[in-house]
Amino acid sequence: MAYDPNNVFARILRGEIPCKKVYEDDHVLAFHDINPQAPIHVLVIPKGAYVSLEDFSAKAPAEERAAFLAAVGHVARTLGLVKSGYRILANHGPDSSQEVPHFHVHIFGGRRLGRMLERA
Ligand code: AMP
Repeated sequence: MAYDPNNVFARILRGEIPCKKVYEDDHVLAFHDINPQAPIHVLVIPKGAYVSLEDFSAKAPAEERAAFLAAVGHVARTLGLVKSGYRILANHGPDSSQEVPHFHVHIFGGRRLGRMLERA
């Protein structure tokens, strides 16, 4: 899938749409999900144009991949989730129901999160 530069997260990165920012560095932005599925639900996105983890893991330079992983851990610590625990999730493609075609990791926390997957 080609990257759509008008997807909602690209627009957030360009400052065209506001977000509730949690963290930002040269490579990464993290912000609260607009429709939270847990008491804490934060999205971590790379600033580069990648459709999903598939695209990001195949194409992003090592510096961007390292910065992204470090940022996910940093954000979880900043949110105070290390002791209580948290879940990260990244959707890719139709079976995952990925909605926004800009790579992102969800961080969920703040309550018991239940089993990993909805039963078929
Ligand atoms: P996914 O299904 O993995 O693509 O998840 C996309 C997520 O983006 C959903 O949890 C949405 O609630 C969230 N989302 C969509 N638009 C916005 C926005 N403007 N600000 C923050 N989160 C958003």
